[in-house]
Amino acid sequence: MGLAVAYQLARDGHIPVVFEADDRVGGMTAAFDFSGLSIERYYHFHAISDHAFLTVLDELHLADKMHWVPTKMGYWYQNQLQDWGNPVALLKFKGLGLAAKFRYGLHAFISTKRDDWKPLDHVDAVTWIKRWVGKEAYEVLWRRLFDYKFYDFTENLSAAWIWSRIRRIGRSRYSLFKEKLGYLDGGSDTLLQAMHSDIEKHGGIIRLSSPVSKVVIEKNIVCGVEVGGQFEKFDKVISTIPLPFVPRIMPDLPAEVLGKFRALNNIAVVCVIVKLRQKLTDNFWLNTNDPEMDIPGLVEYSNLRPLDQHIVYVPFYMPGEHPKYAEPDQAFLDKVRSYFKKINPALCDEDFIDMRASRYRYAQPICEPGYLERLPPVSLPVQGLWVADTSYYYPEDRGISESIGFGRQMAKDACV
Ligand SMILES: Cc1cc2nc3c(=O)[nH]c(=O)nc-3n(C[C@H](O)[C@H](O)[C@H](O)COP(=O)(O)OP(=O)(O)OC[C@H]3O[C@@H](n4cnc5c(N)ncnc54)[C@H](O)[C@@H]3O)c2cc1C
Repeated sequence: MGLAVAYQLARDGHIPVVFEADDRVGGMTAAFDFSGLSIERYYHFHAISDHAFLTVLDELHLADKMHWVPTKMGYWYQNQLQDWGNPVALLKFKGLGLAAKFRYGLHAFISTKRDDWKPLDHVDAVTWIKRWVGKEAYEVLWRRLFDYKFYDFTENLSAAWIWSRIRRIGRSRYSLFKEKLGYLDGGSDTLLQAMHSDIEKHGGIIRLSSPVSKVVIEKNIVCGVEVGGQFEKFDKVISTIPLPFVPRIMPDLPAEVLGKFRALNNIAVVCVIVKLRQKLTDNFWLNTNDPEMDIPGLVEYSNLRPLDQHIVYVPFYMPGEHPKYAEPDQAFLDKVRSYFKKINPALCDEDFIDMRASRYRYAQPICEPGYLERLPPVSLPVQGLWVADTSYYYPEDRGISESIGFGRQMAKDACV
């Protein structure tokens, strides 16, 4: 989002300076060296509705690097790998009655066709889903997805937010039977590097390993930022860091605004990436409902983007305060190895070429019913200061396209 702000500002003739805490650009989309393979720390796919993302690709002449692939989904349930993601798979699914299947399918179909999210804004997601799909389908197909992503927050999630996630995937289809998802040659890094170059070409500046320690505010006017112990003067500051960091670096905001930021909840992720000698499954998505696995699913990325080795991501989401988040990386790596061997018994230890875990403390806001009303305005009651993160495009879920679209609009709004 920060890059998108700078990209728009630089193209509009301003001189943005991006301060990035990390030693590389990209935040959640950044790549790392996975024993010789440059790849994202967290998996990314694109949907055909990702308009803001596709627009930037066009502007940067990267459209030919985008590929759309028919992908498969699976469900690991009752110790079986089952097909998933189309009406036939739903009908054949073992472990659910016919009426429950019908209700589940109807809910997914209607959610995909729906456009108006306002009536769902103040409804809690679990009540909404149970009302549509019934208790049986909820228990089998939904409960674990919620429990292993949102834990104690499950009972207080916005139905509008969950609906937007169902819709995004549902709309990335050729037909009722075929899903198509997209990837970029070289992954997200291709876009990040192109945006980086474009910002510099238009006069913008990107400073890496430069965490902002304070946004300096005097008499309700922004004066600049403190970076590396130095004050740097700016007449406008646009912050796109995760909202939970905001009170720490902007202690001089009005108390009411600070209180609103402090009241927001966020979940963390420990994401394991595995390089395998052979496939785990044929699916891109694999939902899991297994009492021995504390994950809602996994992503076999190389079934979307062809790579020399098989790459699988396993995200463990949890509240940052959960004791599990304090466990060492090895605990997550060991779990993943045992889950994989259970799902595909042909896999042996020699098939695991490499495994890593990456952590992001503020990976996803928890969007409660009426979420937008809980947020302070993007343009804060401080002259020259704008603050946003992925929360602000609620009910859309966090995503590259949404962050780009929101960031570019924020840049325009800040300069009218
Ligand atoms: C596991 C996982 C899977 C995902 N899958 C997808 C997907 O399939 N498709 C999709 O579109 N999106 C996906 N996303 C989301 C996507 O990565 C984000 O929406 C996208 O990166 C936009 O993020 P952002 O720029 O808004 O925030 P972030 O990526 O959180 O960026 C915030 C930046 O602020 C920097 N920062 C923090 N504090 C400071 C400071 N004090 N000073 C300076 N800099 C600071 C951070 O280093 C970071 O670079 C996924 C995310 C995760 C975690």
